[in-house]
Amino acid sequence: MNRLLPLPRWARLAAFTLLIVVACLLVAPTGYAQDVEPEGLVPGKTVTYQQTIPVNVVFVGFDRADVDVATFRAGLPATYEPIVRYPAFYGLEGRDMGLRFNFDYRTVFTDAAFEDDFFGYLASIATPGDPTLFQQLYNGMASNVRDVTGPVGYIDGPSAEQWLMTAGRQRLGINPDRSYTIYYINWYDRPDFQFHVYTKTDSPDPDTGYNFGLLRPSRKMVAWGGSHGRTWFYDLSAGPDSWTGNYDVDNADVDGDGEADYRIPVIWEYAAGGYRDPAALSSDLGLVTRYVGVNLLFTTSPLYDPLVAAPGPDGQRVAHIELFNLHRLSNAADWIDMDMIQAEYESFQPYYDWQFVLDNNRRPAPVGVRQAVRIGGGLSEREDCWVDYGTTDAEYYCFFDEHYADFVPEYGPHDYVATVFGFNGALSNMGNVPLGFADDNWRDGTQSYVFMFDGPEIRSSGYGFTTTAIHELGHHFGLSHPHDGYDSTSGVDYDPSGDFYFAWLGDEAHSMMSYIDVAWEFGPFDRDNMYRYEFAGYLNWSNEMLDDVLAHPDRAAVRDLVAAGREHARTAERAFRQWDYLTAATHARLAYEAIATAAQTLGIATPAFATETLAPINGTVPRFIDPIR
Ligand SMILES: [Zn+2]
Repeated sequence: MNRLLPLPRWARLAAFTLLIVVACLLVAPTGYAQDVEPEGLVPGKTVTYQQTIPVNVVFVGFDRADVDVATFRAGLPATYEPIVRYPAFYGLEGRDMGLRFNFDYRTVFTDAAFEDDFFGYLASIATPGDPTLFQQLYNGMASNVRDVTGPVGYIDGPSAEQWLMTAGRQRLGINPDRSYTIYYINWYDRPDFQFHVYTKTDSPDPDTGYNFGLLRPSRKMVAWGGSHGRTWFYDLSAGPDSWTGNYDVDNADVDGDGEADYRIPVIWEYAAGGYRDPAALSSDLGLVTRYVGVNLLFTTSPLYDPLVAAPGPDGQRVAHIELFNLHRLSNAADWIDMDMIQAEYESFQPYYDWQFVLDNNRRPAPVGVRQAVRIGGGLSEREDCWVDYGTTDAEYYCFFDEHYADFVPEYGPHDYVATVFGFNGALSNMGNVPLGFADDNWRDGTQSYVFMFDGPEIRSSGYGFTTTAIHELGHHFGLSHPHDGYDSTSGVDYDPSGDFYFAWLGDEAHSMMSYIDVAWEFGPFDRDNMYRYEFAGYLNWSNEMLDDVLAHPDRAAVRDLVAAGREHARTAERAFRQWDYLTAATHARLAYEAIATAAQTLGIATPAFATETLAPINGTVPRFIDPIR
């Protein structure tokens, strides 16, 4: 393998340049990056790893006259560069993520044969039922243009997604392994139309057995994707539904925050005298493509820096869950499934050596803990550490930060420990608590501890600790929700309210980070994003360390480690280009382990251990609290 030869840098550069020239002569211009031998590590450089992302937008059941493609395309971003979102709330830049995506959009209108087959399939799998609660509420509106009449078809969302994905590959030439696809659907104009909603009913809560997808009218949906691959559909002729708020055509402010909420109505409301001017359809679909598809599902920005949670080269990733019982009638440990949490993370990020620890304090919680929980939940304003932060919301963080060593044992010096504090109690002792939140350090947007809440009332809403723990750890390790995010082109960070209310659509997807409670796994969008963050992050950390390693007088002693690191980096880069992001993250981590071991051998500091901050407290930054829904 000639790439292992220690060629001088000028020779490698010359060879690299020659390869590019030859490749450009031989292949189509857009393909050249796939064929050039990866460079691997670049000592001392922060590399921006670029990728061209094909985004297919398929209109199923729309006339060409319905959608003005130029207007639709006008709002779409050309590129996306992820940022670490939380530090930005403090006015800080966060680590350079080293990623840039260039979008290549393709729009397709399906033909009559495709539509006959697709809507025939939907009709064949639809289970008839009464209109949903929210369809009935829609019928009761003063300004709805028509009523939803039964029987309504209840259609399995993942099955519809799979049909589209297969047909897209076979009949539209879409390669779902190397692209993302949105299907916009309109059944309404056809004679075989029936009112319908989408469901997913196979995933009850693992602790309570409560089946949100089956039992809750609010989980009857208009969109779905991510159960089978890089495909998401949004059916404008389904619903109306609760989640996206489009059942309410009378009230401008549907969430009561004093702001008009921009929603995407069902297709028949795009009408003269309807909720929306028909001319707005093209730009509305552009908004959904940009602010839901691209920004929240396909190429997202992390809430926290995933590399903060990186174990050292020989360290484990530990999830330590410390449970407190605030009443005697139930045992917190009965409402958490550690095996499920562990299995999910071992599947999601198999390149870490995981350790999951449960410490259930069966004895009544200490007075200090009870007091901190009462303050955090708004039941007490007793003076405590929160005073320095200007808000009682900080009490959980500051109390458990001060008393951390009283509860959590020491782990290995190279382990990364994600600590979850869980409280099992009645709301009368906990106050106005959410399901949980992954807090930051109140100084610079670095993740700190996870807090989660359960008890008799919360369980009667359907929630145990397990899914909250997986979701909040998902934030702690970096992931954002599929309903809030960052728009790279404008620099705007948004949540699903006001002008961006329609971003709730992103929750109708297979993601552990959704609020919709019908799928408890990290889906392909979560995986693609996390793996790309870690791929670019670990390679750039390796680039940084390698510069110091190569400048060290004893560098010969670590020659084999450096060669192994370089080889893993090339494997990672090759896999990244082939959209095999798991392999890319795995080998980027291995490259980091090799180069960090070399650095440690030489006594060079590694970036994993350089995170302490002395920035002043800032209590004015927005918090990401996950409510009980
Ligand atoms: Zn959340």
